Amino acid sequence: MSVSICYIGLGSNLGNPITYLNNAVEALQAHPQISALTVSRFYNSKPQGSQNQPDYLNAVVQCETALEAHDLLDVLQNIENNNHRERTGEHWGARTLDLDLLLYGNIIIESATLSVPHPWMCKRSFVLYPLRELSPHLVLPDGRTLEQCIANLSTDDLELMR
Ligand code: AMP
Repeated sequence: MSVSICYIGLGSNLGNPITYLNNAVEALQAHPQISALTVSRFYNSKPQGSQNQPDYLNAVVQCETALEAHDLLDVLQNIENNNHRERTGEHWGARTLDLDLLLYGNIIIESATLSVPHPWMCKRSFVLYPLRELSPHLVLPDGRTLEQCIANLSTDDLELMR
């Protein structure tokens, strides 16, 4: 059984975001087919899309799993659902907990339900900065280095949680 190193983006801007992010980390840690978890520091970020919503708390988790990528996505969506996530259909709307599969090994996936690498990850400082804490020399499946991707990203909307 092959094991893949995966990266998961965590976000929350409703209720108690620290609790929701910690709940997500605990649920991933407790999963029998997920191991070797490391967690970045937590960051505050400004919302994308509608500004008429609270700021976000974000982090990134690195883990190892033998789960197939779509099965891992199911696990992430179950964790979201267990944390009061309501699916309004609004893109970039406020949410108690959002879990994105950023990277699954070095694999590119384009299916009806899953795009990996996550399509917007390289445009998001709240993804790339915590990701760099965990894997500073990371290379994306298309050959770009994390350093190249991060070079043009502003950190104006990003702040380490105090
Ligand atoms: P969101 O509103 O960000 O939670 O988007 C959830 C939807 O995005 C789900 O229906 C997923 O099937 C889809 N999706 C596609 N690629 C990904 C990914 N890499 N990680 C998480 N959700 C994804």
